[in-house]
Amino acid sequence: MAISDKQIQEIKNILEKDHGREFTWEEATQAMRDLENLASLVIEMANDDRRREEMLKKHPNGLHFEDSGCCCQICGNPASKENSWFDKYGLKCMICQEAINAKIIPGSIAE
Ligand SMILES: [Zn+2]
Repeated sequence: MAISDKQIQEIKNILEKDHGREFTWEEATQAMRDLENLASLVIEMANDDRRREEMLKKHPNGLHFEDSGCCCQICGNPASKENSWFDKYGLKCMICQEAINAKIIPGSIAE
């Protein structure tokens, strides 16, 4: 989406008011780009959350997580595909999930 001059002027005014100094057009343009990138990231995260909620509705006991590049919420190690379990407590690697299944640690620790 193209950033309009009106949007740049609006954020320039806000920045100048908040910081008590003049901002260049380039700084204001960069601030708008940063804001746009942040908004895109938030939308992407919200869509991911919604998709995961839908997955849990279909698989209430949990399932392997198909997304790659994600980490176990307990130990921080990579957790995807067969080495993952995603349920109401979140994403865990299978070592941590097996510890939960064996009641060595509570599932809620992942939260
Ligand atoms: Zn783990």
